[in-house]
Amino acid sequence: MNHFSPRRTALRSILFGALILCTALAPSYAATDYTISLVNPDKHLVEVQIVLPEGPAQRELQLPVWNALYQVRDFSQYVNWVRAKDRAGRPLAVRKLDKSRWQISGAESGAAFEYQIYVDSFGPFGAQLSPHHAFFNLAQILMYPVDARDAPMLLRFSHVPDGWHIATPLTSLPDCRFSAENYDRLVDSPVEIGTFQESDFDEAGGHFRVIVDAESRDYDMEKIDATLHKIVAAATSWMDDRPFDTYMFFYHFPRGPAGGGMEHSFSTAIDLNADVVSRAPEVLASVTVHEFFHLWNVKRIRPQTLEPVDYTKENYTRALWFSEGCTSTAADFIQLRSGLLDEPHFEQELASGIAELERRSAHLTQSAEESSLDAWLEGNAYYRRPDRSISYYNKGELLGILLDLAVRAASHGQASLREVFQWMNQNYARKGRFFPDSDGVREAAEAVSHTDLGWFFVKYVAGTDEIPWNDFFRGVGLHLVEGTSTAADAGFVASRNFDSPMTVAAVTAGSEADRAGLQAGDTILEINGKAVGQESSQDLAGLTAGDTITVKTRGRRGEEHELHWKVGSRSDITYDLRDVENVTAEQRARRAAWLKGEAQSPQQSQSR
Ligand SMILES: [Zn+2]
Repeated sequence: MNHFSPRRTALRSILFGALILCTALAPSYAATDYTISLVNPDKHLVEVQIVLPEGPAQRELQLPVWNALYQVRDFSQYVNWVRAKDRAGRPLAVRKLDKSRWQISGAESGAAFEYQIYVDSFGPFGAQLSPHHAFFNLAQILMYPVDARDAPMLLRFSHVPDGWHIATPLTSLPDCRFSAENYDRLVDSPVEIGTFQESDFDEAGGHFRVIVDAESRDYDMEKIDATLHKIVAAATSWMDDRPFDTYMFFYHFPRGPAGGGMEHSFSTAIDLNADVVSRAPEVLASVTVHEFFHLWNVKRIRPQTLEPVDYTKENYTRALWFSEGCTSTAADFIQLRSGLLDEPHFEQELASGIAELERRSAHLTQSAEESSLDAWLEGNAYYRRPDRSISYYNKGELLGILLDLAVRAASHGQASLREVFQWMNQNYARKGRFFPDSDGVREAAEAVSHTDLGWFFVKYVAGTDEIPWNDFFRGVGLHLVEGTSTAADAGFVASRNFDSPMTVAAVTAGSEADRAGLQAGDTILEINGKAVGQESSQDLAGLTAGDTITVKTRGRRGEEHELHWKVGSRSDITYDLRDVENVTAEQRARRAAWLKGEAQSPQQSQSR
């Protein structure tokens, strides 16, 4: 997938006060001053120099153990060496304190801390330097001075291969450096360096830049821009807010495995497989709306439990059902408003989301809040079993729909999820306050509906009560019709952690897969001759009963097997959303407002 072979750069260690490509600058002693050198793209090696201003003699430097994904990833595993010097270039003592923290002594007149780090994890959550490009989630490679995390930060890049350009939402200074008011803001700003395509546009009073790293024949920049115009216009009008002047969209469309988006306050980075981009442009739209809406929900409308971020360990929050799930709900309404989604598809996706939750037996044992707390376990295949966990994305998106309907019912159509979000934006985000997890959502929903909604939060957010779907959908004249369908069943459940191999989580006892020798814990390398990638789950879902499936596996002791068996079948519960009998004028009016994600005007609701 490389279409560009850069000039090879020699592996060179960085000297204190190294020459920079743009302008040689004296190191700044007012701020922490980072230089990231792209020393060896072939070997994925980056060298970092951190110039610390004058201060205490002893300083500590910490590399985060997590960022972006709610998973401890221990980025320090990639640090090859560290060293420190004083301003005159004399070595300073460095003492390792734990797996991710270092202490230097004798730094009272300033010091340079240097290290080499291996970076080859692709995707919006990762950091990668390759002969093709560099993309940095900066928290993965930049240590922070523990005593100055809130102080201003400066950043420059050196050894940038000829012809490569830099794109980042960081503030650009005239001397080729970038600045941020503190470390959190610095690492909330992804960086792409390479030969990307770029476009820009204005919409809703803001300026937008679009950075695409992909084969040019795999996408149409004009179509992407047209979609982005719609998204930005619909989202800012839905929130009646635009808390930024400029915003940046980063896209990677690799031919191989990809997937996922990462939100930031002033940008988003999204990776999608090139085939998906051309075959299903609606996927690009829906991922983008979700990530864009995060600039409010989670970045600015932020749970207290995520602040201040503790980069040294897990940050437990009960709010991901809202911060992630309800971001998807808001994204649904924004797509409906912008014409990117229509009523039949919206209701179809809603019904299949309900089926997804109902089919996971863990919906009776794990609440939406517990699923949020357990986000940190998602890297483990056993945890992802349908009888062990639910998804806070899935249940959270449905809870967003139900909360919207509950608020409409309680307020006689005068309020909706839109008012809940706007209330939280006004009363928390814009005041610089963080909300107290689910209690903060409840507070907002009760404020806009003037009703006690405690029952909703007790039963469905903190609890695992079965959801009486039709009690909620009646208000908009719909009901859920339950059915069964016979679905192909390969006899096992397998899943992937974002960039890890596909692992078998469970094998159905007595199934053909069981008889063929497939075991929980096996890694799946190939399915029907095709290497496992982003589309493998869809490929598995597309199987027909009676087909022969060939699976290449690696067992836990490293042994590889090729297994064949006949795909069986199982009966699945299915759902459809249909009109109730005799839809009333009141239900019709409420549904029309629901499909626009907005409250009814007083006249519409008085006609009841
Ligand atoms: Zn998200």
